[in-house]
Amino acid sequence: MSFQSLGLSDALLKAISKKGYTSPSPIQEKAIPPVLEGRDVLASAQTGTGKTAGFTLPLLHCLSENPKAKFRPIRALILTPTRELAAQVYESVKDYSEFLNIKSAVIFGGVNQKPQVATLRRGVDVLVATPGRLLDLQNQNLLSIKRVEIFVLDEADRMLDMGFLRDIERVMKLMPDKRQNLMFSATFSKDIRKLANGILNHPVKVEATPENSTVDAISQKVYRVAKNKKTGLIIKLISEGNWKQVLVFTRTKHGANRLTKKMISAGISAAAIHGNKSQGARTKALAGFKNGSVRVLVATDIAARGLDIPLLPHVVNFELPNISEDYVHRIGRTGRAGANGQAISLVSADETSYLKNIEKLIGERIEVDIVEGFEPDPNASTEPIKPGQNRQRRNSRNSNSKNSGQHRNRRNKSNNNSRNRKDRRN
Ligand code: AMP
Repeated sequence: MSFQSLGLSDALLKAISKKGYTSPSPIQEKAIPPVLEGRDVLASAQTGTGKTAGFTLPLLHCLSENPKAKFRPIRALILTPTRELAAQVYESVKDYSEFLNIKSAVIFGGVNQKPQVATLRRGVDVLVATPGRLLDLQNQNLLSIKRVEIFVLDEADRMLDMGFLRDIERVMKLMPDKRQNLMFSATFSKDIRKLANGILNHPVKVEATPENSTVDAISQKVYRVAKNKKTGLIIKLISEGNWKQVLVFTRTKHGANRLTKKMISAGISAAAIHGNKSQGARTKALAGFKNGSVRVLVATDIAARGLDIPLLPHVVNFELPNISEDYVHRIGRTGRAGANGQAISLVSADETSYLKNIEKLIGERIEVDIVEGFEPDPNASTEPIKPGQNRQRRNSRNSNSKNSGQHRNRRNKSNNNSRNRKDRRN
């Protein structure tokens, strides 16, 4: 199938060919036609599938085929959970609208609002936003979404994980009832289906890859290792394998900082990216990782979500996630766009049950290996990590204490007051 046959305008086809895309990805093939028809769409797709163009291209087509008044009310709103994803989606909107008379802007928290407000004042057709900053500016009467015709909720599952449900509901009330809605999510829990029911009107359902399955192009491997030997092992693997671009996941922000320092001491250029880092530091780390000056990017799940790093060859789980679906998200960062990728997990005894749950979810056994000198500790307990360090989702939901562990905060839906939401805002 070609982009031409999807019925996109010449101006969009020109922008697509400038990007170097030759044919639509599966999610684009499936999502673009119903969006062009004006239907609501519920799409199962994660980053790396080309989902951004899947909603941006038809959205731009619809807006430009049907121009509106000169003063440019916001006609399309794209809501994303994180700043990084907002910035990336905005870049795509800009690229694809290069030959159209469409203005776009991005707003997110953590940076001065003034330049964002100035841009909004000049008139914007397409706004990409994170929920917090959108509502902040709306409360100050600095923007209006009363004229939105198309609403896109990107990475809806992560939105819920991050406690944005109330914010999404508030945003919905500020838009006209009659509008087109597009919702993208990598996973479909009961909560997501409930949210979809509240937002979407007889949606067309499209799927990029079977839910919760891992991509064939990714080779997965587990190294069984003693907990205190993980750092030594990862440094050995990166150095001896001469890996140039490695995304490493840790479970906590502190863990990310610690590992980054140790990498740097070992002579490997590394940077950490997580919620405690300023926007400037995160942007710099990501830019360095993309241009090759930073060899290892150490990230927490939230920070890594939605990062667009094409053709990532290596992903390492320094610690396994305790939420099995996060494993699928993490390793989805490699083997993208048809390239082969390698996903390595360093697993200590206390992560045994996490590994079992992951294997159950993906429906396959992952090859296990042991590196000489980095053997697992035969005396270590296989009990999952103690509460307070890392928690199972069930525990975190039920707890009321004020532990600030990132993973726990993310999942603590019962403790979802507005201050917590702000803390978690990316
Ligand atoms: P996304 O899933 O939207 O984050 O896109 C993942 C990557 O695929 C981005 O780097 C896009 O620029 C790229 N991409 C999107 N659509 C296509 C396409 N049809 N052909 C090749 N690359 C694409």
